[in-house]
Order: sequence, then C-alpha cells, then structure tokens
Amino acid sequence: MDRRKAIKQLGLGAGATVLGTGHSTRDRTNDERVLRIAHITDVHIRPEENAPERFSKCLKEVVKHDVDFFLNGGDTVFAVDYADITRERVHVLWDLWHTARKEISGYEVHSCLGNHDMWWAAPDKGDEMYGKPYAVSQLEIPDRYYSFSKHGWHFIILDSNNENAGSLDEGQMAWLEAELAKLAKGTPVLIMSHYPILAPSTILVGGNHTDSLAITKLFYKHPDKQIHCISGHVHLLDYCTYNNVHFYCNGAMSGFWWGEGDEHSAGKYWYHETPPGYAILELFSDGTLKNTYFPHPF
Ligand SMILES: [Zn+2]
Repeated sequence: MDRRKAIKQLGLGAGATVLGTGHSTRDRTNDERVLRIAHITDVHIRPEENAPERFSKCLKEVVKHDVDFFLNGGDTVFAVDYADITRERVHVLWDLWHTARKEISGYEVHSCLGNHDMWWAAPDKGDEMYGKPYAVSQLEIPDRYYSFSKHGWHFIILDSNNENAGSLDEGQMAWLEAELAKLAKGTPVLIMSHYPILAPSTILVGGNHTDSLAITKLFYKHPDKQIHCISGHVHLLDYCTYNNVHFYCNGAMSGFWWGEGDEHSAGKYWYHETPPGYAILELFSDGTLKNTYFPHPF
C-alpha cells in the first residue's frame, strides 16, 4: 500500500500533513515489515490549555495507524522537576497521564524518563515520590534504563538524565556496551533516549547529549549492527546519519507545550518550524526503519 492510499484509508487525509523523514534505503513491500510502532514524545500532559482532551484526540488518531505498541520518549508530564512543585501538583499531573494511559490500555507502552518527569523538590530524598524511582513506577517501566527484543529487533531504552544532561552515567554506559556486545551479528537495534544523541536541531536550540562523542565511538565498534536512534526533548523534527547510524529526532506531541506558541512559531501550537505531532516507525526484517512524522491539528 502506498503512503497516500494508506493515509486515505486511515481517514487522515483532511488536514493531516505527512512529513516524511523516511530515509528507507530502498523500495519495499508490506510483507517485509515486522513492526509498526508509534513514537510519541514530550506529551507534557497538564490540566491547562485543555491538554487532556486534546491529547485524547491525538491518541485516537495514533491508534488508527494500527500500531503494535507505543514508545513514549519522556517528558510525559508537563513538569514536576521545578523547585516550586508541590506534592499535590505531582499527583495531578501523573493522574492525568494514568487517565490517558487507560485510553490505550490495549497497547504496551515502553517509556523513557524525561528531564521534567522527576520530582526533585520532595521534602527529603527518602520521600517515596522523590526522583527517578517514582517516575519509573508511574510510567510502569522495569527500570530507569532497560531493553527488550521483538521480532528480531533489539530495543534499548536509555536514561539521559544524568550529570551534564543529556548523558549516560558510567554504569549505564558500561551496560550499553554490554548490551550491544551480546547481540548476534546483524541484529537491528532501536535505541530510544529523551535527549538526542545526535541532532542537527540542537545546534539551533541546544539539548543534545553531551557525551555523543563517546556514544558514537561505541556505535562505531558495531558496524555489523543496524543501529537507529530516536529521541525528543527539543520539540523539533530532524534527521541525520553518522557512521551509518540513523538518528531521528521527532517533534513533540505537545508542540509548544500545548500553548499557542511565540514569535518563533511558524504556526499555532508549533515550536519554531515543527508542528505538534507524533511519528510512526515501520521496522523491516532487513534492519531498515522508516520514520514518518504526522502533525496533528489538535
Ligand atoms: Zn525534555
């Protein structure tokens, strides 16, 4: 099925712009595809701006793509990381996420931690809601970083929220090295981080991983693996390749944090030139990946 036909069948024709950041290396047929995944990121759910209702509409659009599961790239809640955030506000924001999550209860959602997901202003570090363990529990993920395999692809979910963020702590870097080393030759790998490991848009607005040199050198040791990286954080859409590794930074579900925008916004709700949206990832048995960004009008 060609893309235009697919969109028509999905009922996304009216008002939906497809921004192809596909970069598939050759033409292919449907039967080579092993997974179709929704990559949502920077949801920044909050009670203001009618965000819950708008996000609900977004999810209804996403599931029309007949996805196998969701990857949620972090900054799930608007922001609980600031010094003035109260316990009550933390509950309000995570409760909104849980309500939204119920709408897609039939799907697995594999999330990573965003910089705005941790409550650092808890009264003390022993507080059950302090820091990463609480965010991990709210997102129902096994740990702050983890991996899993599906249909021949290996998925690695990173925690970029460390000193000099985005970065990996020493232990996590050693774990990533071991993860890649244990994979069979030729294994396709999809790595999700909140901060981009490498993204051209970060030259404009900042927010790149600060340890990209070390991570790209690690990737270079695995020329047989087919490595694809997806990220968010900067709310901008871009793509690059470096040493045969593909880096997709997808725009934010919340666009301009659900707000109308500012003088830099190219459209209502946009952040600079990127509209609010989500990506659909198509993963193929030969280790290639097609990343298509779907702006949403909500
Ligand atoms: Zn972020």
